[in-house]
Amino acid sequence: KAYLDSYQVSQATRDFLAKEQRMFIGGQWVAASNGADTEVIEPSTEAVLTRIPEGTAEDLDRAVAAARYQFDEGAWSQLKPLERERLLHRLADLLEANARELAEIESIDMGKSVEQALEVDIQGTIDTFRYFAGWASKIHGRSAEPASLPGSYVAYTRKEPVGVVGSIIPWNFPLQTMAWKLGAALAVGCTVVVKPAELTSLSTLRFAELVQQAGIPDGVVNIVTGRGSVVGAAMSSHPGIDKVTFTGSTPVGQTVGRAALDDMKRVTLELGGKSPVLVFDDVDIEATVEAVAQGIFFNSGQVCDAGSRLYVHETIYDRFLEALADYANGLKIAPGLDPDCFISPMVSARQQDSVLGYIEAGKQEGARLVCGGEAPEGPGYFVQPTLFADCRNDMKIVQEEIFGPVLVSQSFSSEEEAVALANDSIYGLAAAIYSNDLNRVHRLIPQLKAGSVYVNAHSTIDPAMPFGGYKQSGVGRDLGPEQLDSLLETKSVWITLG
Ligand code: NAD
Repeated sequence: KAYLDSYQVSQATRDFLAKEQRMFIGGQWVAASNGADTEVIEPSTEAVLTRIPEGTAEDLDRAVAAARYQFDEGAWSQLKPLERERLLHRLADLLEANARELAEIESIDMGKSVEQALEVDIQGTIDTFRYFAGWASKIHGRSAEPASLPGSYVAYTRKEPVGVVGSIIPWNFPLQTMAWKLGAALAVGCTVVVKPAELTSLSTLRFAELVQQAGIPDGVVNIVTGRGSVVGAAMSSHPGIDKVTFTGSTPVGQTVGRAALDDMKRVTLELGGKSPVLVFDDVDIEATVEAVAQGIFFNSGQVCDAGSRLYVHETIYDRFLEALADYANGLKIAPGLDPDCFISPMVSARQQDSVLGYIEAGKQEGARLVCGGEAPEGPGYFVQPTLFADCRNDMKIVQEEIFGPVLVSQSFSSEEEAVALANDSIYGLAAAIYSNDLNRVHRLIPQLKAGSVYVNAHSTIDPAMPFGGYKQSGVGRDLGPEQLDSLLETKSVWITLG
């Protein structure tokens, strides 16, 4: 309470947090079938904030049945597309009207900076629903002329929603990731069951209230909170679910994907990353330092496409690192509700331990610590922004995803070496190039094995552009028109003329 008081948190957020939290199944607000619940901890203060239901496989069954019923009845899928579009815009309007409260909830639950949550998470959520709302009325098949078959036909394709979509969400961008899954699914007429991360379910529960308020029919959106190993695992193999869309770590994604393919569910997997950042010697150092720092330290490095491996041309390496360390040391470490917070706490004690363990491993492996490396005095699961120099690609801290404010670096001498280092990873989510040499940039883009290539910036993300990974960073794409096909079946229709 003292924390909320000291930052003048809105009454709406206080009222929401004071309420008993319930899951949202078939339009009803329900506790877990066995009455179990679990505590929610605020990461900046380590205080218990509230409790959320710990859903069971039976709760999931009920949610899937509700989604299935609504899908089969057609209350959503057969609604006129412009009506779905209107309801999704109404939902976006409600998200906008409650943006401050949603940002506060996200900040208090996950630990992240409230200002960044408002600007990125909540705005991104609103924009995603608006973008896909417009697609609802623009889904269509095509007519075709058979290429070789003798005879006369009318041949055309129909696009049909895939059915019930199960969405499993991580804790780093809870509401925004959920929007990435739901925007397109709802636009094309699917119904959904969402399993938010157990650490960060609150904004999703508040979102469900807005879904109801928007007038989206009961059972179209269902939220089951609970453990990954229970609700998530049941979702991956549930016979009533037609498609699973998962964002999270690569090992869990592999488990989810395998289970889903047992009965050939459609699958999208957005997984981990260890994205390389290539800095050439022709850049403006000051501007590039700022962009590179933002690329790794935003959300305290708990970002799937964080630019976490830095490769700098040898002629500017020392100068660049010195400026980067200065910049990192100037970033304010503070609780998420502090309006000037840049470095917020890790989401949990476990995540903090894991990040500190990697920092220790880096020291053991002989990487040179340039700045950071410590956890400031508690409370709060904070880790200083940390920079390692003189790394080698075979080091654990270079190969594994740390998912914290830790940047590893080394120098390179040629373009070929830079590309080889960048691609030497099991991941391929994103890559960044900093250079003003147009020829070089265009030469490099096709060589980088990454789902997104950012030039002279990092994490430029927008609902109109697809997002997803090469290699072990995932399967399929969220966002953009590319996502729509992953939520649609294509039916080929042949009418043979006499
Ligand atoms: P996680 O894999 O531990 O959990 C993700 C979700 O899966 C949670 O809801 C969790 O409850 C659930 N889950 C856990 N075990 C499960 C199981 N056995 N079956 C089904 N579901 C299960 O990941 P996290 O720690 O929440 O998030 C961090 C990870 O997510 C990082 O690796 C990060 O790179 C990745 N991520 C990727 C993207 C992307 O778009 N590629 C975006 C954000 C985060």
